[in-house]
Amino acid sequence: MNPVIILGTGLAGYALAKEIRKLHASLPLQLISADDGRVYSKPMLSNALARDKSADELASASATQMAAQLNASIDVHTRVSSIDRAGKTVDSEGGRFPYSRLILALGAEPVRLALEGNAAGELMSVNNLSDYARFRERLAYSRRVLILGAGLIGCEFANDLASAGFNVSVVDPGKMPLQALVPRYCAERLEAALGEQGVAWHFGTTAQTIDKSAHGLRVTLANGEHIDTDLILSAVGLRPCTQLASEAGLQCNRGIQVDRYLASSDNGIFALGDCAEVSGLVLPFVMPIMYAARALAKTLAGKRTVVEYPAMPVIVKTPSMPLVAAPPPRDSTGEWRITKLDSGTVARFEDCAGRLLGFALSGNAVSQKQALTAMLPALLA
Ligand SMILES: Cc1cc2nc3c(=O)[nH]c(=O)nc-3n(C[C@H](O)[C@H](O)[C@H](O)COP(=O)(O)OP(=O)(O)OC[C@H]3O[C@@H](n4cnc5c(N)ncnc54)[C@H](O)[C@@H]3O)c2cc1C
Repeated sequence: MNPVIILGTGLAGYALAKEIRKLHASLPLQLISADDGRVYSKPMLSNALARDKSADELASASATQMAAQLNASIDVHTRVSSIDRAGKTVDSEGGRFPYSRLILALGAEPVRLALEGNAAGELMSVNNLSDYARFRERLAYSRRVLILGAGLIGCEFANDLASAGFNVSVVDPGKMPLQALVPRYCAERLEAALGEQGVAWHFGTTAQTIDKSAHGLRVTLANGEHIDTDLILSAVGLRPCTQLASEAGLQCNRGIQVDRYLASSDNGIFALGDCAEVSGLVLPFVMPIMYAARALAKTLAGKRTVVEYPAMPVIVKTPSMPLVAAPPPRDSTGEWRITKLDSGTVARFEDCAGRLLGFALSGNAVSQKQALTAMLPALLA
């Protein structure tokens, strides 16, 4: 019998393999990964500097150890280039592999900004262990870091780098940090807290060119300002990896479109994790992956199971201003109600009937996370 093949050994690929093994000890299983297959916690990439963790220290198991633990074969440094749906095989430079069912756990890749200048290629992003290793090497020769993007990942890196003693600037076209996640009042508290750590904010503009200069790298912004820096980190967003799926004729929108069974438009091919759009939702976070992995493992082991998503707030790893965000679903109508406490803020997003649709908590108020989460409607019931 041909194996179930999982493409990707990130959190989604390994979480699914572990859930399968809890239910079925002998189902033939093969994982194929473009990277080295080491296990690591991706969320730690944006808070590991202040703890002085190297890339090797962030890795907790090798692919060989995982293959033994999962009773699976794992092919590493093997990028799959095409899927033959009729023949049920995948192709890579390492050969052709037949599958019984195929799981796409391909993740998301950083959005690349098209910048001008003779050092535009210097732009870095950190989305996996090897990126982090390169980033650490470059930091060894850097004192100043410019971050493009003041979203979740940009703010976390800003806090981590500032705590580790770097001179940090952040550029973002919006008006405040975490604009998509939290109301203005919470964003302003974060802006002030990171400002106290030395972070210099440049809102309402974007980077246009990067050039080498006598002082390192010179970034020119759309508003005409220049920033001299040693390293530029792009944190402007991630885009689900859909190319392999769309070239194979699978339906893709923002992500690879799958239903509540995690099945794509080909019912022998499934997707989960950052590459997937589950019932219209693209949720590039840890918790949705865990729910999806449990449901899909049951389906693959013979009991068709839909995925259910409860409300899943995100913890923002900015110790200078602890924050938890559960933004209201897109297109919801209502308004933010802010309660300022001595050492924190409770922001509740309520509809006209007073129902809680989202929240943001900062400072000591983060202790209310569980209580408020229990009041939110499920994302997929
Ligand atoms: C810096 C950072 C901080 C984060 N912090 C948080 C947090 O605090 N909380 C939270 O909930 N979430 C956080 N996230 C998001 C979370 O880490 C991700 O949602 C999750 O790790 C994604 O896992 P994944 O397996 O879907 O993708 P990935 O980990 O990207 O894995 C994709 C896998 O697919 C493989 N692959 C890709 N293309 C191919 C191909 N063609 N052939 C073979 N293999 C291929 C890759 O090699 C890799 O093994 C953070 C993300 C980042 C980048």
